[in-house]
Amino acid sequence: MEDWRRDIGKSLKPLIDGNVIMGEEIAPHTTYRIGGPADVFIESESVEDLQRISLFLTGHKDVPYQILGGGSNVLYPEHYRGLVIHPGNGLSEIKREGNKILAGAGAELMEVIKRAADWGLGGLDFLAGIPGSIGGAVKGNAGAFGRWISECVDKVRIFNLSEGKVKELERNEIEWSYRKTNIPPTFFIYEIVLELKTYPVMECMDQISRTLAQRMAKQPKEPSAGCVFVNPKPPEVTAGRLIDELGFKGRRIGDAMCSPRHANFIVNVGKATQSDVLALIREIKEAVKERFGYDLKEEIKIVKETNGGT
Ligand SMILES: Cc1cc2nc3c(=O)[nH]c(=O)nc-3n(C[C@H](O)[C@H](O)[C@H](O)COP(=O)(O)OP(=O)(O)OC[C@H]3O[C@@H](n4cnc5c(N)ncnc54)[C@H](O)[C@@H]3O)c2cc1C
Repeated sequence: MEDWRRDIGKSLKPLIDGNVIMGEEIAPHTTYRIGGPADVFIESESVEDLQRISLFLTGHKDVPYQILGGGSNVLYPEHYRGLVIHPGNGLSEIKREGNKILAGAGAELMEVIKRAADWGLGGLDFLAGIPGSIGGAVKGNAGAFGRWISECVDKVRIFNLSEGKVKELERNEIEWSYRKTNIPPTFFIYEIVLELKTYPVMECMDQISRTLAQRMAKQPKEPSAGCVFVNPKPPEVTAGRLIDELGFKGRRIGDAMCSPRHANFIVNVGKATQSDVLALIREIKEAVKERFGYDLKEEIKIVKETNGGT
């Protein structure tokens, strides 16, 4: 075992309020159900925990690390030789202050939407059914039906793991683009302030139900990480249509399959590995380039064995 792993056990584990697990399997923490053990998995319960992790990282600059939210947009390898930092329950609380919601980054996005609706606060309903945490949704500017979570964000509170400092970012200090923000991989989002509008509770609930029904009608049911590729020229040219036209639906490598329901989803039909998914991604990209001339870009975050933040 390398030194840094031993050091974690000795110097960091006793100080952390959350769980510190050596060799934790990542697959159960992801919607893809793919990913072998990570050398170390830490559940951070507080900003103080983040501070302690940051201090450790300052003394171990070569240790690769990843922030993992709800694991619904990531593809992990057979073995991650680094540190995975995940928000625990202490960073997953949801509170209301007037028409604002303060959500800990680890709170499930869907839970935030439901709690907001219970309080008669609407405006998030278009995101209903998107899996994962609110922290991950903000980091990747999650969106649906031509709208984005950025519309509802007031402030984002981050902990800069490389400097060991907290910082509050106003919505307009962040660059928001298609499924992307300029929030660096060293920034752990720990809390989000959402600004919402008041609506009758029943109206909020109905809107959520309608959105969920629309989503269920077209989304594959097998484990996945959502759409694999960014649409090259939305709305006219979508990755799904190009892949479908090439006849990839149902194409399978190992247990990774191009979904017969939606061609931009590669689903895990059994025990797919990262290599299976990557091989299918490669095939699709080559075929799309050759026939249509587009260079498809991955939307899912591919984590390699020793990758730093994605
Ligand atoms: C069936 C299905 C349907 C989907 N539909 C949609 C859709 O309609 N629209 C859409 O936008 N997405 C969709 N997705 C993709 C995914 O759900 C979203 O991107 C989601 O917001 C990711 O959140 P997460 O917490 O799961 O992030 P993760 O997958 O855990 O992480 C994604 C990235 O965010 C970073 N990250 C996560 N949490 C934090 C944090 N607290 N601080 C800093 N960085 C963090 C990670 O390091 C990683 O780079 C879908 C996925 C699935 C499986």
